Amino acid sequence: MSGYERRFPMSLIEFQGRFVTESACAEYLFARRWPEGFVCPGCGGGRAWLLKTKAFTYECADCGRQTSVTAGTIMHASKLPLTIWFWAAFLMATHSNGISALQLQNQLGLGSYRTAWMLCAKLRRAMVNPVREPLSGLVEADETMIPFRTKNDPVVVPGGRSGVGKMLVAGAVEIDGGKPRRARLKVIEGFGKPELHAFVLGAVAPQTWLVTDDWPSYQDPPGVRHNPITLGPMAAHVALPWIHRLFSNLKRWGLGVYHGLRKTNLQHYLDEFVFRFNRRRTRHAAFETLLGIGARTVPAPYRLLIRKDA
Ligand SMILES: [Zn+2]
Repeated sequence: MSGYERRFPMSLIEFQGRFVTESACAEYLFARRWPEGFVCPGCGGGRAWLLKTKAFTYECADCGRQTSVTAGTIMHASKLPLTIWFWAAFLMATHSNGISALQLQNQLGLGSYRTAWMLCAKLRRAMVNPVREPLSGLVEADETMIPFRTKNDPVVVPGGRSGVGKMLVAGAVEIDGGKPRRARLKVIEGFGKPELHAFVLGAVAPQTWLVTDDWPSYQDPPGVRHNPITLGPMAAHVALPWIHRLFSNLKRWGLGVYHGLRKTNLQHYLDEFVFRFNRRRTRHAAFETLLGIGARTVPAPYRLLIRKDA
């Protein structure tokens, strides 16, 4: 297994062919965990045998410690087969619009909706990365209002009629070479200076070049270079094209996937949307993040300090 590395399958057919059995999934997990061969997390020893009594668990030949290939991942101690976890994470990572618990249940042939729901909920929880790095360089920021559905509204009521409220959302997109890179979205309580400054300071690195409209609440965010643009509301999409495109995609996604976002979980929805947006070109990384496989590669804490543009 030493040096084991294979290209991650990009197509459904390829994925299906590769992760068809429990041991194929376990082999992948082994290779990701121990790319240079087994290393005991207890004593650092390199010799181990596979236990017959516990699934995909290795016992160190030196200290006797037992380590499962799923330890530290979302799959650990789960009763569901690894193939189900792999398939669910792949579907969730590769569907550009996301996938509902019901769709997951149907596509994976799961016996109960409850199981599908739990699976979905656990994978979604992995979409919020607490150690993510702030945006930097050139960043567009703006705010918007999103309609939400209430308990009694079965579907979205068009035109913002009664029963449909609005939630306030602040957003930012990092621009690199004229193209969007990463984004941030956050539910805010108001469009005042305290809310928007708090959002900006939480989302962007110091010395970021921030582009906004001339809304007074953005004025003088501390530690951030600011380039307010004075224009009429009709031209906002011209001056801030990417954040406006992000907002309109978000609204369309919310209406299409969940038949209208609910207020109680809005931040979770925003996190899911941002997760997918930020990893739209690295589905492989998305798959691994969802399963908790890549969780051990925490970014170096000092990277921010030595950033070229910091
Ligand atoms: Zn050991």
